[in-house]
Amino acid sequence: MSSFEPTAISRSRPPDLVSGYRLEKLVGAGGMGEVHKATQLSLGRTVAVKLLNPDLAKDPSFIARFQKEAAALATLSHPHVVAIVDKGKTDNTYYLVMEFVDGPSLRELMRSPSMETPVLLRRMLEICRAIEYAHGRGVIHRDLKPENILLDQQAGGIAKVSDFGLASFLDDASAASRFALTSTHVSMGTISYMAPEQRVDAKSADARADIFSLGVILYETFTGEVPLGTFDPPSRKRPGLDARVDAIVMRCLKPDPDERYPSVTALIADLEPLVPGSLLSMPPLRLTRWQRAKAAMRRAARVTAQTAAGVTVLAAVGVLGVAYNRSGQVRVQPPLPGKAIMDQALRDTPRNGPGRVEDVTPDKRRVTMGDGPDLPQMLVAGRTLNFENKTLVFPPVDDDEASRVGRARVDVLGMVGGVARLTARVRAEAPPATWKRRLKELWDGPPPEPVASLGLMGRDGRYVTLVHHGAGAPLTLEWSLGERGGAMLGLASPEGEVRLELFVTEDGVMQAFVGQGKDQRPIAEPLNLGPDWQAHFGEAPVPTIGCIEGTCTVEGLTYTVDKPAPMTETPATPVVVVPQQPPRTVAANTVPAKAVVAKKPAPPPPPVKRPPVKAAPAKPAPKRR
Ligand code: ADP
Ligand code: MG
Repeated sequence: MSSFEPTAISRSRPPDLVSGYRLEKLVGAGGMGEVHKATQLSLGRTVAVKLLNPDLAKDPSFIARFQKEAAALATLSHPHVVAIVDKGKTDNTYYLVMEFVDGPSLRELMRSPSMETPVLLRRMLEICRAIEYAHGRGVIHRDLKPENILLDQQAGGIAKVSDFGLASFLDDASAASRFALTSTHVSMGTISYMAPEQRVDAKSADARADIFSLGVILYETFTGEVPLGTFDPPSRKRPGLDARVDAIVMRCLKPDPDERYPSVTALIADLEPLVPGSLLSMPPLRLTRWQRAKAAMRRAARVTAQTAAGVTVLAAVGVLGVAYNRSGQVRVQPPLPGKAIMDQALRDTPRNGPGRVEDVTPDKRRVTMGDGPDLPQMLVAGRTLNFENKTLVFPPVDDDEASRVGRARVDVLGMVGGVARLTARVRAEAPPATWKRRLKELWDGPPPEPVASLGLMGRDGRYVTLVHHGAGAPLTLEWSLGERGGAMLGLASPEGEVRLELFVTEDGVMQAFVGQGKDQRPIAEPLNLGPDWQAHFGEAPVPTIGCIEGTCTVEGLTYTVDKPAPMTETPATPVVVVPQQPPRTVAANTVPAKAVVAKKPAPPPPPVKRPPVKAAPAKPAPKRR
């Protein structure tokens, strides 16, 4: 929205109170108003509150535009799109509440010359994925530029598209009247990023106008300049950039929309193979004919359901996302799978099962489920859990059974530590086809894909979990840790059994992996929780598995934590002492005290425990023991 001419607008004084929120700090001001970092009092979490300038709030066309931004955001629920939390009205203006993205904008990132090409390529791909998704939901952004892309530092710097203040809906004929849009006062978009046809007539611009803007962003990201007049191909300006990027950028920047990519999906098809790094190094999975047919059926059923059902449900904005559909009605989006599984409202029933709880060494504690002489207690909620032949099984749910969601966590104490590793082999399968199920499918359409999860659960619904959505679908890392939460899409799941791992380094960098041994690959970016990472869970978290729909099996569930080293050894301030080695310059302030201690080369037999591990995005798996 910064594209609204700000000149005539005096800077507003924020109202002292936006009911339910405490404004903490002004983080951005544009043509339409201000964005504040704030606390959502009911949940005690940090959010961003965007306030419409009270002067503009007297003008119905600006109110309509603000409402439209909220409607566009509410339509979108995607890891690379800023999430909306709420909207409302104060005495003198309107506000909308979003997730707070803690990090720089792409504009600021561009200013740091050290950004590596592979990382930038990955960010570009994330932005494209967000726009592909938005277009799929009928939303055109129309103001894509580096200022409106935020990078979430806590989630490894992933990109989040924000500022849908100029967005339009693809079938906007009704929306235009619904939102009473006029173009008075409004100079739409930012010229350098705007497609030629959009400059002439904003209303005629379609999704391909966003593709043009993506081209400008790509060009500028790699060269530091916007493409104007005749310009050099990006690879000539940035040594080391794959020359195939040139053709992609040039095609996005074609003045005639018909000559551009017809869709962002087509753009992604060309861009994705050029994005190096572990995240995408797995070959795309080929779906079997049956899986393709199932996916097509699912799509058809969804479309039919959406068009047939004028039926809508109204719900409060909260745990459930609320989305406006294109007719302006509101419908409830299902919560994230992890959220559903970790739901505090699910009632726990204790069950004992085969397993083992042991102190492997005096400072390493491990719990294993499925096999062993001990009978550790599990707290089972929602669905039934069976112990079958070393395997934990959530058997298929009957159609008349109330709960589709099952959860089981190991009720074990003393899992306090620094380095931690959680592993299991999981599988999620559709339930066996019975006549009853087939009939129901004919009637209701295919059931949702089964989901299995492996994660850590703490207090008050705090969790981090890896979600497996069945073969071919991306694995996701989902987390909700007090004021911070989110989800990242990762690699596509391989077929059949999937070995998942969550590994936390001594520095509190949490990385998810799929596969084993040399085939192991990181899923999504690492989450940087800091050395005191368990504190984010409210208590020492415990291993937790989950299942939604279908049948889920979990084998080899193992959780190991290393107890923290006694603090007495640790100097108060990080000082790097590397005995028996020539002195080297080390960035002392980046090395946590504990890592320094662990770095001391200890003569055998006492083995070096917990070597310091740094997980860096775009690098292969951190080295582990
Ligand atoms: P406008 O461009 O109209 O000012 P934006 O939505 O782009 O409106 O917000 C302006 C600035 O506020 C952004 O550039 C960014 O710095 C900050 N901001 C916006 N949304 C968020 C958010 N969800 N989290 C953190 N900062 C935000
Ligand atoms: Mg903006």
